[in-house]
Amino acid sequence: MRAPINPPRVRGACPGALVPMAVADGLLVRLRIPGGRLPGPMAAAICGLAERHGNGLVDLSQRANLQIRGVTEAALPALTDALRELGLVNGDPAAERVRNVLCSPTCGLDPACTPVRPLAQALDAALADSPDLWAALPAKFSFVLNGGGQAPLADTVADIRFDALPDTGLFRVAVGGDQTGATPLGVCTADAVVDTALTLARAYVRLSNGRYRRLAALVAAEGTAGLATLVALAPMPVSIGLPGLSLEQVLGAHTGWVGLGFAFGGMSVQWLALVAHMTPALRLTPWRAVLLEGDRIDTDAVRALGGILAPDDPRLMLSACSGRGACDSGLTHARGDALALARVAPRLLARGHIHVSACAKGCAHPAPALVTLTARGDQAYDVGLLAPAGGAAQWRGVTPARATSLVAALEAVYTHRMRTDEDPAAFITRLGGPAEVAALVEATVVA
Ligand code: SF4
Repeated sequence: MRAPINPPRVRGACPGALVPMAVADGLLVRLRIPGGRLPGPMAAAICGLAERHGNGLVDLSQRANLQIRGVTEAALPALTDALRELGLVNGDPAAERVRNVLCSPTCGLDPACTPVRPLAQALDAALADSPDLWAALPAKFSFVLNGGGQAPLADTVADIRFDALPDTGLFRVAVGGDQTGATPLGVCTADAVVDTALTLARAYVRLSNGRYRRLAALVAAEGTAGLATLVALAPMPVSIGLPGLSLEQVLGAHTGWVGLGFAFGGMSVQWLALVAHMTPALRLTPWRAVLLEGDRIDTDAVRALGGILAPDDPRLMLSACSGRGACDSGLTHARGDALALARVAPRLLARGHIHVSACAKGCAHPAPALVTLTARGDQAYDVGLLAPAGGAAQWRGVTPARATSLVAALEAVYTHRMRTDEDPAAFITRLGGPAEVAALVEATVVA
């Protein structure tokens, strides 16, 4: 029997394969891959479906879920059936909704990473088999299993997290935050991780009684005493340090894997399909990157396909929405125009963020950016400094080529006038603000 396909959710909710979310470029269908390991043939199959039923774009969520974009209402039933055949759809949308389990992408590749993937898969299955939690846990309630090692899941926030303590066989159990900010409750062994996660989730439901939307809010208001009475944990050993994360530890060639970033957190299905054929399996990460398993990955070929192997690549500091052709509201080819900016502004992008939006809505980056291009007509942009999409602009209605020249001039002004170690936003403020810097840029462009 076909499982129900619920009406699309609004933005801000937590979508899935059975509960797609209506966003600007159509329905977004989110796939939760248990343990985050996606075999190459399955990735290729998903690409085929995304091409057939979506707008040709897939991306990675900040929880390492794969998202098929631009799906129409008419195409959704066929896509869901095909995903079910691949084993990627739960029988019940409510079961799918609580399967928010993230584990270290390098598990099994990095010997220093504690093997957390089997635990994550077991927890994923246990949540799908716990109907009492389906409706009781809030949307986005999440679990992190951090095996540590070379690329720890240190900066990923979760309601309940397990951080492997090096050389002990134990996990630190903590709630409501990333590795640094979460509140520790105690330690448990690997065998106890799944039961502890479920017990803690049920304790949250009972203690919160609908009053707190996240575990961090419960702990902030009432402390951890209530949790401690419901969940028995051994005390933390004294002073065991937990390593942090840097992108250097993820991107590029490593023994056993190649870490690959991509601009905008999104990929074309053609790109993903080509990459999928190079590796036995991809590891999905929350860092706008995938890991390709294998020691013989042709890094030149990957680079030629647009994969980013260097952590300081300026393309990683760009935001741009899917734009014209992928979104009905798109007035410009935002991503192509953004890549042109990356070529002329490496210094600005080393310390700042550039956003190109194909309409004033600013889906890709609602906050202000160092430079924001907002499309205002057919192939024309407003360009603003330290402003959000649709906000104040120093230049109105310029062509993409002119916008690129202006950003190149800003790069030159910044390069010649910056103080040692001054970031571009502080530089603009010191020089009097966006209007004053715009005058300098104009003079540089004319010159
Ligand atoms: S910013 Fe505009 S064009 Fe871009 S995805 Fe959102 S609605 Fe579509």
